[in-house]
Amino acid sequence: MISYPALPIEELASELAEQQERYDAYKHLGLKLNMARGKPSPEQLDLSLPMLNAVPADGSQDMLHAGAADDLRNYGTPEGLPEMRAVLGAVMGVPAANVLAGGNSSLTWMHNLVSLAMTHGVLGSTPWAKLDEPPVFLCPVPGYDRHFAITEHFGITMVPVPLKEDGPDMDVVEQQVQSNAQVKGIWCVPRFSNPTGCVYSDEIVERFAALAPAAEDFRIYWDNAYVVHGLAADDASTKLRNIKEACEAAAHPNLWYQFTSTSKITFAGGGVAAFASSEENLASIKAAMGVQSIGPDKINQLRHVQFLPNLEAVNAHMTQQAALLEPKFAMVLRVLSEELGSAGIGAWTQPRGGYFITYTGAPNTARRIVGLAAKAGVVLTPAGAPFPYGNDPLDNVIRIAPSYPSVDELETATRIFAVCARIAELENRMEK
Ligand code: PLP
Repeated sequence: MISYPALPIEELASELAEQQERYDAYKHLGLKLNMARGKPSPEQLDLSLPMLNAVPADGSQDMLHAGAADDLRNYGTPEGLPEMRAVLGAVMGVPAANVLAGGNSSLTWMHNLVSLAMTHGVLGSTPWAKLDEPPVFLCPVPGYDRHFAITEHFGITMVPVPLKEDGPDMDVVEQQVQSNAQVKGIWCVPRFSNPTGCVYSDEIVERFAALAPAAEDFRIYWDNAYVVHGLAADDASTKLRNIKEACEAAAHPNLWYQFTSTSKITFAGGGVAAFASSEENLASIKAAMGVQSIGPDKINQLRHVQFLPNLEAVNAHMTQQAALLEPKFAMVLRVLSEELGSAGIGAWTQPRGGYFITYTGAPNTARRIVGLAAKAGVVLTPAGAPFPYGNDPLDNVIRIAPSYPSVDELETATRIFAVCARIAELENRMEK
């Protein structure tokens, strides 16, 4: 196998012609493959089908069961079913009392909390929309495009912070948060980050908890979307320090907002989302959310708690999900290593959980790779998406989502990706 860095200039053109030939051959297959969004596969979704029968049609007893103050078929219990709060609390590592179990989307919680802060402030602070200057959010990069879409939507200035293997660069975070009262929040995906798959270390979580923000209304937006999404069972190396406990130990009990949902546990878009925080934060947020809705869909929550009554049941279910996902990650990593590792091209993360792999190539190659792949029938997440304003300053990061295609499709899609990466790399070197 040819190592590209060692390739003499005069051989670049013939190597490019060879890769172009491979590319054209793939193009003629007329494939339609998608590695763009982190969607569960049909097989993963099948695992949750029994949930639909978890509440029998003659189950009116279930509708009046112990935890519920009211008949679940009726209005009431705005903070969500107590059992649901307990299960999602256990998932996030917080007591049920600190959890609100809501509708189908954690992203909606995030959007609504930012919206609420814009119009009403946080625990009595000046509404962000009334500040002289726009508020600022720190955005660890590469990160989740839909987080950035929320803050962009509200005109919040986004400041990128490098995401390292053990979490965000805390020197930058501390400097920004502690010196600038405009900084109101930071987006975090602390376990199996989207898209690098990194897990924040205990030290990083403790530095978060110890932050002394210049702004009284600064909050850490701790999006634990992949908290139970390890690819290997009992993986001690990916344990996450509990943010609630860390903040309480640092005497900053109100600093954290935590989110999760069952979108990647049961049904994507048909699950249950939860928000957790301190009693004081929750009381104020609950009052505001009560204006928006009389209460959540408790019937779906009942289905969920019948199907997944406790953390053990969630973990057992996630072991089945992992068995479907792990071979897919393994295939992508194997092909990347075979095709690109030996040629000395690019670098990629090797996540131990979550939904994504991040590829980093030479500067000015990401857009080209995504464009080439699209023409050969492989849809990738748009280049730039993991950065605020879609702006990847080096144009070299691509998010790969292996969950949806079959293992065979992934092999083909990753080989096509690799050929595109080779072409982009060669073109880049020839331009120099
Ligand atoms: N947060 C992260 C980090 C995600 O990757 C996703 C989905 O991909 C979501 C939130 C969406 O969650 P929900 O379906 O609960 O809105």
